[in-house]
Amino acid sequence: MSENNKKGRIVSGMRPTGRLHLGHYLGVLTNWVKLQNEFDCYFFVADWHALTTKFDCTENLKEDTRNVVLDWLAAGIDPEKSHIYIQSHVPQTAELHVYLSMITPQNWVERDPTLKDLAKMIRTEGENKPNVSYGLLGYPVLMAADIMTFNVDYVPVGIDQVAHIEIARDIARRFNNLYKTEFFNEAKPKLTQIPLLKGVDGQKMGKSFHNDIKISDSEEDTAKKVMKAITDRSRARKDDPGHPDKCEVAFSYWQAFADEEKIKQVQQECIAGKRGCADCKRELGALMNEKLRPIRERRKYYEEHPEIVDEIIKKGNEKAREEAEKVLQGVRKAMRMPDYR
Ligand code: SF4
Repeated sequence: MSENNKKGRIVSGMRPTGRLHLGHYLGVLTNWVKLQNEFDCYFFVADWHALTTKFDCTENLKEDTRNVVLDWLAAGIDPEKSHIYIQSHVPQTAELHVYLSMITPQNWVERDPTLKDLAKMIRTEGENKPNVSYGLLGYPVLMAADIMTFNVDYVPVGIDQVAHIEIARDIARRFNNLYKTEFFNEAKPKLTQIPLLKGVDGQKMGKSFHNDIKISDSEEDTAKKVMKAITDRSRARKDDPGHPDKCEVAFSYWQAFADEEKIKQVQQECIAGKRGCADCKRELGALMNEKLRPIRERRKYYEEHPEIVDEIIKKGNEKAREEAEKVLQGVRKAMRMPDYR
């Protein structure tokens, strides 16, 4: 358990993918904002994880890392409540990764669902064969090191990511058995219902699909993008009765951003054919902009005060290193490593 009055310690990270979209905001960040009131939270930008697949294109790594932190702060991650740090600034994680690599059987790593798919692709000959590095094969162990660096109690995950936590639990148990200790917690998954927000074209929302709405988009761009959102495809005229349940994207955005009363009103008017899709999406865009305004204003404030952001990251890195060092001291001792520090 953590030393303060909170219910335990949590760690979670995100790769530096650049400016985040509303899927990240609703699916992850709103949950982090809630968790920070109850738990001692460590949130990190996983720049080492980015290198596992993008080691040959690091031009935007710094800028992308910065943008991720700006979006976190905009969304309400409060540096007074949470520790924001950059993975590569906590060398203790790399040291722990080495120790854990030594005790992790190879077949444990190979059963990771993502690596299973990759291994299949590697076996496929042809131009699209992925360039797999030693680092990529070891990423489940690096992820275990991220979790174990702070000996956390919980890791917030969606149901499809539980397998990733399992390997960290197995490694922690193996460490404890091997070195006859109870040093490591077996971090539990803190399951969260992650609402999936589709892209405007109805596919998974993502930067590379050019269908996303970013937290940092202007109000004008947001309104334009919302106008492209897929609606009930069976509707020909604006006074045809609509089917909100078949309105693939626009109605799901209403459900994500409006209150219950408004959702009901939209639903009833749509079914009764009293709501044209263009007007409906115009109103939806305005509502989304209204909800996102305080978030965007906060982002603008941090963009205009880079020294505050630098300080937040610096302090987060320091705190993370300090806590990680305490854990590493215990690890070295349990493993009976030579100690001439
Ligand atoms: S009126 Fe609104 S809810 Fe109904 S189909 Fe059109 S966009 Fe969707």
